[in-house]
Amino acid sequence: MKRVFLQFYYLPPHSLLTPYYAVQNGFSSVLEDCKQAGEVMWIEYNIASTIQETLKLQGEFKLPAKADEVFVSCWLYTQLYLVYLWALKYPEITFIVGGPTVRAAPPILLFNLPENMVFNKGLAEEIFNRKPNPTTWRIEPLPKKDLLPMYTFYISGTCYWEQSGKRCSFCNYSSEDKREFDLDTLRKYAIPGTVYLWSPSFSPSDIKSILPKLPYTDTYNYFLFIRGGIGEMKAVQETLPRVTKPENLTWYLGVEFPSKRILDNMSKGVTLDSLIETINTISSFGCKIILSHISRWPDLKERDLEDASYFVDRVNIENVLHRFKPLFIKTSSNLEKEIKGTSISYGPFFIGYVPTLTSEQEELNKKVIRIFKDKERVVSDCSYIKDLYAY
Ligand code: SF4
Repeated sequence: MKRVFLQFYYLPPHSLLTPYYAVQNGFSSVLEDCKQAGEVMWIEYNIASTIQETLKLQGEFKLPAKADEVFVSCWLYTQLYLVYLWALKYPEITFIVGGPTVRAAPPILLFNLPENMVFNKGLAEEIFNRKPNPTTWRIEPLPKKDLLPMYTFYISGTCYWEQSGKRCSFCNYSSEDKREFDLDTLRKYAIPGTVYLWSPSFSPSDIKSILPKLPYTDTYNYFLFIRGGIGEMKAVQETLPRVTKPENLTWYLGVEFPSKRILDNMSKGVTLDSLIETINTISSFGCKIILSHISRWPDLKERDLEDASYFVDRVNIENVLHRFKPLFIKTSSNLEKEIKGTSISYGPFFIGYVPTLTSEQEELNKKVIRIFKDKERVVSDCSYIKDLYAY
């Protein structure tokens, strides 16, 4: 029996930091098991701005290696679709698919998968019938050497906000993954690059207990997600003075839309002022911050734009990048009950809707981005990129 384990990496098309390879090291917790059972391969995944172009770049759906069983870790819906196309093209091979698209935010199946494509909704450890062990995490260098990678180190699989029953309305993330992690293992086996500290959202207690204990050297930087709630703000204020190299941290913070009305409607649990204070504290320590804004809302009001102006006038400029991406209504999110639009599916996988906007709403949404640009904020505007929801 020949087995292959495939992990993707790609050059993000709209890189927000220094160019890097995004590495989806889904088999890191079982890397040695995979090597003993078969061959572990990286596969370069070239992302274009539409799914058709993306798939064309994959060399007409050619599978990088033949085997009886191919295990794939899928983090993007377009990758899931690619595996589906492989399963149709290679009926003699069984494809076992895991990763976040299968475990934490699975698409709705419109029709049956081919018999040779199966989902592993459990952890990678289940392939080997063993329990998770935080000391087995490993990462191998990529075939590419010209750019540094950003790779994932597991911190938490659950979102503490979702677990408290207050999930953000646009989100469909749900996972019960409660593995342990071991910072000594990271210290021993990290490779140069950026370590993406994987947690859907660092809680205030994660911020306080983990960040001061990270190994800080010149060879690796860290990337993490947070909300901008009052708890996070206090944790950041208390913790950053204890971090030896705060400039090695890049924070990704979901602003979503800086208006009291929209933040309240989406159960984000943050206020404009807690957002502003969190951002300004992080920025004052020399950390980098990427602020994620959702654009292309179908129901903006003038008072939302007034709040956006209030926000822009108060957030620091230094080390802050504002990234706009289009609203995508995911299946099983609370927003799905409120807004509908054009449905999007890839083969058997239905993933959600793109909202329909009136011309007046189109204009209001563009005005929001102009507010940021006119005040000379650094803006990365991806609001009109097709298929952005796919990666
Ligand atoms: S958007 Fe982030 S913070 Fe909100 S529920 Fe989803 S994972 Fe949690």
